[in-house]
Formats: sequence, structure tokens, C-alpha cells
Amino acid sequence: MRHVPVLIVGGSLVGLSASLFLRHHNVPHLLIDKHRGSAAHPRAMGFTETTMEHYRACGIADRIPQNDPGARLRRVQVESLFSDWVAETDWTPGEPSDRSAALSPCTGAAIAQDELEPILRAAAIEAGAQLSLGVELTDLTQDEDRATATVRHRDDGIQETIEADWVIACDGADSTIREGLGIARSGVGHLRTVRSVLFRCPDADVVLDRGAQQFEIEQPGFKAFLTTYGDGRWVLMFDDDRERNTEELRAAVQRALGRDLPFEIVTTGKWELAGRIAEEYRRGRIFLAGDAAHQLPPTRGGFGANTGIDDVWNLAWKLAAVLGGRADVGLLDTYHAERRPIGWLRHQQTFSRPDYAHWAPSTFRPEPLFGNDAMEFGQLNRSTAVRGAGPDLPAAAPPKVWAGQPGTRAPHVWEDGEEGTRSTLDLFGRDYVLLSANRAWIDLGERLSIDAVMVGRGFRFPAGQPFAAMFGVSGAGATLVRPDGIVAWRSQKLPDAGAEASIRRLIAARG
Ligand SMILES: Cc1cc2nc3c(=O)[nH]c(=O)nc-3n(C[C@H](O)[C@H](O)[C@H](O)COP(=O)(O)OP(=O)(O)OC[C@H]3O[C@@H](n4cnc5c(N)ncnc54)[C@H](O)[C@@H]3O)c2cc1C
Repeated sequence: MRHVPVLIVGGSLVGLSASLFLRHHNVPHLLIDKHRGSAAHPRAMGFTETTMEHYRACGIADRIPQNDPGARLRRVQVESLFSDWVAETDWTPGEPSDRSAALSPCTGAAIAQDELEPILRAAAIEAGAQLSLGVELTDLTQDEDRATATVRHRDDGIQETIEADWVIACDGADSTIREGLGIARSGVGHLRTVRSVLFRCPDADVVLDRGAQQFEIEQPGFKAFLTTYGDGRWVLMFDDDRERNTEELRAAVQRALGRDLPFEIVTTGKWELAGRIAEEYRRGRIFLAGDAAHQLPPTRGGFGANTGIDDVWNLAWKLAAVLGGRADVGLLDTYHAERRPIGWLRHQQTFSRPDYAHWAPSTFRPEPLFGNDAMEFGQLNRSTAVRGAGPDLPAAAPPKVWAGQPGTRAPHVWEDGEEGTRSTLDLFGRDYVLLSANRAWIDLGERLSIDAVMVGRGFRFPAGQPFAAMFGVSGAGATLVRPDGIVAWRSQKLPDAGAEASIRRLIAARG
């Protein structure tokens, strides 16, 4: 019987990201997936700035082609791919679809899931992760001390038992782990089944020069959605749940293209358009992450895979702190406390936005929309791992409004110095960091063995974006940023015994 500190079940986008993030925090683990490689039909294509920030922290952002700054994802209504645009879809009515480039050191990335997964797989292995592919979980039990997994090697049918301290279930929307635990889900539920055909037509890519990437096709008797993976591959999604033979598929592609271009059918797909959020993200030693925890349709915000990648970014440092004996096991409760409300917020925002509102059932009550910057960079984390994020605060707001509010992502500012290319975010990502313009706080950080950065020396803020305004901290005060870049706590005063005790308690997750 093997024993591992962490077992990750599922090696798609979220499982592989979990593996990479755990290695980033030096946590030994095993990842299993029943498949050896990526699915032939990629799903995700749009990755957000936040996802890229996490990959940047792990040193792999430059392996992933990022969008040009200012590039916009645009969806238009057309008769066929090359015809005139009838109208353009607003993602958030009244807001430009691009996000403010000043808010992140990264732009988003447009890369097909089956091109990103091999990059993540290679990076995780390079960082020392152990991946067992072609290995299926067949049973999982747990008691107070451990989780016990039974797995089957699909090549030779050999069964193996693996003990783990903790398990991360990244086994997708139909998660057998979640079902086995009997964890219910809430939300709009199943809305419809979507069928698609993936085809290769490099000649169609010239249309992308016009600036739109997603096309709602409408002709008499024919409605479909056409989008690109940006590498000569296109996917056509049908408006009905009817199985088509090859001849029908070819005719539909031809109709959508509206031009006689050579193309080759690669494969077909069948998807569920649904909204379901698990009631519990943790049961005992098992955590749900990614689609296992929240099933959300792809929308402008890329709330699907991106939400899952953010889940495991939140979880990885907590597991590292508990396994390393630096924090009390109670820290792990904050995963559900912080991530479940964010999953629910994203569910509500998805079905309140125009691209999905018409699919929501009549019982769904739309909520006021948060803007793009608030949803991407300004979601609030409320738990015992944060001090000062009271119930009166909104679930999200733009970084400018938050100004370093505990519970939100620490703001990005480029350093005003010779290096010039360093972001505040580059200070975070591994351990707690104390940031202050006052020497007394730096001394306290050193006494507590916390990384302490002296504003003006360790990091120079530009005149137009001073520390005090960006992080909302006075000259006498300090801010404490968690290893995941979320502000944990801040003070406006010089350090005293109470402040020291608060920091100690936060870091050790005690009280
Ligand atoms: C058409 C489409 C387009 C999309 N576009 C976007 C987008 O642009 N941006 C975005 O953010 N999201 C998008 N999504 C959503 C995104 O694809 C999913 O959120 C994402 O793939 C979920 O990743 P996951 O790792 O949680 O689960 P999955 O990708 O479902 O992976 C689960 C993994 O678990 C493995 N597994 C399952 N059971 C077992 C077992 N018993 N033993 C071992 N292994 C097991 C499977 O083999 C699989 O590899 C899109 C979805 C669709 C359908």
C-alpha cells in the first residue's frame, strides 16, 4: 500500500493546475487520471488574467501565448461566417468587454484546452509531480486519520490501494467522488444538451482579422453557434439535440461558413449546458474542485475552468501550511468558506448576464450585475483566514474601490525603478508578506520570520499609484498578504502587542 500526502483525482485543467500549484509549495502528491492524454475535442479556450497570474507565479506564463494587450473577445450575430455583422453581443451591458490593462501584469490567453494541458502536464512533471495516467479511481473511503483509494491500472487491470492524508477531487462535473459522498448541488440545473462538430478549416481563419471570434449564425431554418480555437480548428454548436450523420454535419458546416472552403471533420461532441454548485466543497479529508464543485457554462468571464483553477490556487497553500505543520488543520475549513460563495456568485452572475439569461428557468431571479473588473479582480473572500471583511461588504467590487480591502486580491502595481518590470504580485505567491513604509513593521516581520517588504526600498511605488492609496494603508500602518495574494489583514497604526498577536494567530490559523 502506497501512502501520499495528497491524492489528486483527475488530470484535466484543474487537476493539473492543482498538481503544479502543490509543487510550487513543495507538497509531494500523486495525480491519477483514467485517460492518458487530453480529450480529442477541446472545450475551454479562454483563460483569464487571474489564471495567468497564477501560472506566472509558478514561472510558466511565458510558455502560454498571451493575448495582445487590448485584444477583445467579441461575439457577433451573422447570417454566415463571412457575411456582414448584424449586431454585437454585450457581455455586461453598458461596459466595454475589455478589462483595464492596468489591473494585471498579465493579459488573458486564448489557447485550446488540448494545447494548454500538455504544457501544464510537462510543467508539473518538471516541478517534481508524480502523475499516474491511465489509472482509474474505483473506490474511495475515509476515516478520521486517512482516505483510502482503490485504483485500477487500465493497461493491465492491476488494482492498487493508496492511502492519502488529503484528496482533491478534480474528476469533473459527473464526479463519482462527489456522488459517493452524497453531496447535493443547487442551481438552475440541466438546461439543455448541446451537440457540436469540431472541424479543421485554416482558410476560415482570415475572418478573424475583422476582430470577432464568436459567431451566432441565424438563417431561415438554421441556427448555430460557431467559434474558433485560433489554430485552424473551429467548432460549430447546434441549437438542437439531434444526432447528425457525416453528410448532415458537412452540410451544416458548409452552411455556417457560407463559402466553399475545404474543411475536414475532426470529431463531434455532446455537452450539458447546466448550472450546479455543490453544497459542500469539503467533506472530511476530501475537497471538491473544478467542475466537480461547480458546473458553469462557458461565458465571457470564462467562469468554468478559470473558477476551478482559482479553487486549487486557494487550496494549495493551505494544504502546504497544514502538512508542513505551520498552520492548524482548521485553515482547511476556509476553503469551503471562501470558494463556495464565489462559485455561487459566478452561477448567479452567469445566468443574470444576457448571453445566458434566456436559458435560465422562469424561477431564476436575476441579480444586479457586477462589472468585468469586479468579477475578475475584486471577489471577496470571507473566512477566518481574513480579518476585517465584515458581512456588510459586497460580494465583489473593482480593485480601485476595494483599495487593498482585506479579503480581496492585493492590487497590481508596476515598480517604479530600474527593474521597471516587477509587479507587486511578484512579491506574493509563496509565503505571507508584510508590506509597510514603516521600519517598525519590518522589524516585527523579521521577528516573526515573515517576509517583510519596506515600501520605497524593497518595492518602489510610482508617484501616481502610491502605496497608501493602492493598499489603503497609512504611513504608520501595514498590510499582510497571504501566500495566494489575498490581503489577510491590515493596520493603520504602528505595531503593538495586539497586532503581533493577530498576525501570529492568522498565520497559525488559531482563533
Ligand atoms: C464547449 C465548452 C467550452 C468551454 N470553454 C471554456 C472556456 O473558454 N473557459 C473556461 O474557463 N471554461 C470553459 N469551459 C468549461 C471547462 O471546459 C471546464 O470547466 C473544465 O474542463 C473543467 O475542468 P476539470 O479539470 O474540473 O474537469 P474535467 O475537464 O471534466 O476533467 C475531469 C478529469 O477527471 C478524470 N476522471 C474522472 N473520473 C475519474 C476517475 N474515476 N478516475 C480517474 N480519473 C477520472 C477525467 O478523465 C478527466 O480528465 C468550456 C466547456 C465547454 C463544454
